[in-house]
Amino acid sequence: MSAGVELDHITVRFGEFTAVDNATLDIKGGEFFSFLGPSGCGKTTILRTVSGFLEPSDGAVRIGGQDMRGIGPNKRPTALIFQNLALFPLMSVAENITYGLRVRGVGKADRRKKADELLDLIALRGQGDKLVSELSGGQKQRVAIARALAVQPKVLLLDEPLSALDLKLRQHMRNELRAIQQLVGITFIYITHDQGEALTMSDRIAVMSDGVIQQVADGKAVYDSPTTSFVASFVGENNAFAGTVIRADGDYAVVDTAFGPLRGRNSQGLKPGARGILFVRPESARLQQGAADATFKSKVKNVAFEGNMSHVFLEGIGKKDVTVTVGRRDGSEIPGQDDIANISYDPDLGLVLPEGKMARE
Ligand code: ATP
Repeated sequence: MSAGVELDHITVRFGEFTAVDNATLDIKGGEFFSFLGPSGCGKTTILRTVSGFLEPSDGAVRIGGQDMRGIGPNKRPTALIFQNLALFPLMSVAENITYGLRVRGVGKADRRKKADELLDLIALRGQGDKLVSELSGGQKQRVAIARALAVQPKVLLLDEPLSALDLKLRQHMRNELRAIQQLVGITFIYITHDQGEALTMSDRIAVMSDGVIQQVADGKAVYDSPTTSFVASFVGENNAFAGTVIRADGDYAVVDTAFGPLRGRNSQGLKPGARGILFVRPESARLQQGAADATFKSKVKNVAFEGNMSHVFLEGIGKKDVTVTVGRRDGSEIPGQDDIANISYDPDLGLVLPEGKMARE
């Protein structure tokens, strides 16, 4: 059984410092929901308020519609998996998995049954008697998940659980976590600073910066239609051209950039005179000769060949290069160093957003 989680105007202050600022959102029962943001943006603080280890300074957390004020961590229908997993290395796998059940006074036969059921789920059937210290990193990870699931939480909270694993295993565990979540059907709330994890696993993502939720949407919308300059610059690569909006007609706006007037979708309804940034993703830009809707020229600084694609770095504004990614299948000719290239893009793939804080300046 799953439960939804509502954050109702949550603010968390540590002294003068506001770690979470007025966060409101509604996580649905059975959803795989991620909080994505750079270190220190307040993700863990949100998780701690949901789990009950921290009371918010303002606002309320509701789980399954029930106000959690005054309800301690052990009384909430949640379980938490930490980054370091916190397994007991000298206990067997089965003992680890059923630890929470033993604490709750569940008898041996029932514990064994539950352990077998969960060992099946995490593909470790027949390995319950091994010591945790004998397991690989990925297996330990799965035991931590099984242990958390044993107490039948309605919401599983995961705080960067994959960050200690190597890259290959991390990518593999993404698929496993998602599959386990779909099998058990409970709500997963997942904290990460890794956009690849958030994009591959989540039904929806909340992108955070400096304690503020910037956008809540599914991965595709976060990538294709970011609503703030922070989200546009934090998720994936993006070329950014700042300037004043000189025209706004229908769905489009034109920004007067250092490369001249450039056009893109005006999703936030900017008016002429406002400061804006036109974002164009490297894979949305093209290098070509001839007329195009929106076009400017720049000099090629260098080309990085990556097998299935090449990244062409061109002189940008200030220190920031303009990047164009050319896929093998695009069939475009790749210019050489010092060539003057003609850069174009479909204005529907350009996005004009209000000038604001950027990620990774
Ligand atoms: P990370 O990915 O590094 O874990 P995070 O996004 O989870 O980062 P939080 O741990 O939620 O960030 O912390 C948010 C901010 O609140 C940070 O600036 C942190 O220093 C501050 N903070 C967290 N806990 C406390 C505390 N108990 N006392 C004072 N400041 C705190």
